[in-house]
Amino acid sequence: MKKIVALLLVVSCLLSGCALAGKTEKSTVFCMDTVMELQVTGENRVQGIQEVTKLLRQLEQIWSYTDADSTIYKMNAGDFSPEQPQREIIDKAEALSRRTGGALNLRLGAVSEVWGFRDGAQKVPTQDAIDAALAQKKWDMGAVIKGYAGQEAAELLENIPNIDCAILNLGGNVQTVGEKPGGQPWKIGIQNPAGGTPLGTISVTGTASIVTSGDYQRYFEKDGVRYHHIMDPETGRPAQSALTSVTVIARDGLTADALSTALFVMGLEQGSAFWRESDDFEAVFVQTDGKIYATEGAMLSDCSFEVIGREK
Ligand code: ADP
Ligand code: MG
Repeated sequence: MKKIVALLLVVSCLLSGCALAGKTEKSTVFCMDTVMELQVTGENRVQGIQEVTKLLRQLEQIWSYTDADSTIYKMNAGDFSPEQPQREIIDKAEALSRRTGGALNLRLGAVSEVWGFRDGAQKVPTQDAIDAALAQKKWDMGAVIKGYAGQEAAELLENIPNIDCAILNLGGNVQTVGEKPGGQPWKIGIQNPAGGTPLGTISVTGTASIVTSGDYQRYFEKDGVRYHHIMDPETGRPAQSALTSVTVIARDGLTADALSTALFVMGLEQGSAFWRESDDFEAVFVQTDGKIYATEGAMLSDCSFEVIGREK
């Protein structure tokens, strides 16, 4: 929890430029197992906050892994085929899974369970338990749903009259909405896993998703080894890609979230090659040794980093 609060502080400091005195409403919500900070500017800001909060709660209920009424729970419990609009989200996420060559794998639900990331009883499981969990292929949309929620919230806010702009921090997934007053770009800090000042700043204009997956977000340590919550689908163990975080910037929130998880699994080299074949996102990779790499359109500043270019 301490880490989440630190993250929120970093983001709110950087975002405070958005707050026009008296015209901005802020709210903190605990939803989808994380702390979310909503900031909406404009005449109808209170309505905006209320409707976004309601939407987030609805999406949490639909996509929860543990709630017995959720679509995901029912899919895992047996022969249940979701209808629209959920079907479309699952299809889109599955298409991203295929596009990433399976680095994003939406069937690792039981794997997270055996590592204790569901009930908090974190432990290193036996190989047999990992193999059995991989074989179960239980659905888990945890890698994509906050990004999707951000994009849905942005659409909702854009359809409410007299909302000037908004910035939503859904537990490390930042969603900007509209143009910041004064025409300045939004400034989003990349969290320093060690805490303190952000590692760098990403600038974006207009509505966008800036999503970070990191090995410091959920983890435990045993015998000096850090076990985190982003799994390598090939091994059923925490991905070891020499990265500590990947931030993805994209117009589409579900894509940003899906790819932040997938690029973390792929690692720098494969992730850079994947970016060269793509045109719908930018990325910032932070290695465990502290080195930072950013794709050439990532608009990163306030740190030294190596640029990943289109030509290798
Ligand atoms: P967070 O949810 O902490 O913001 P991510 O978006 O990276 O971070 O999603 C991680 C979550 O996705 C895990 O908690 C787990 O539920 C699930 N997950 C873990 N590894 C994978 C993977 N390789 N592909 C898809 N989902 C994964
Ligand atoms: Mg993700």
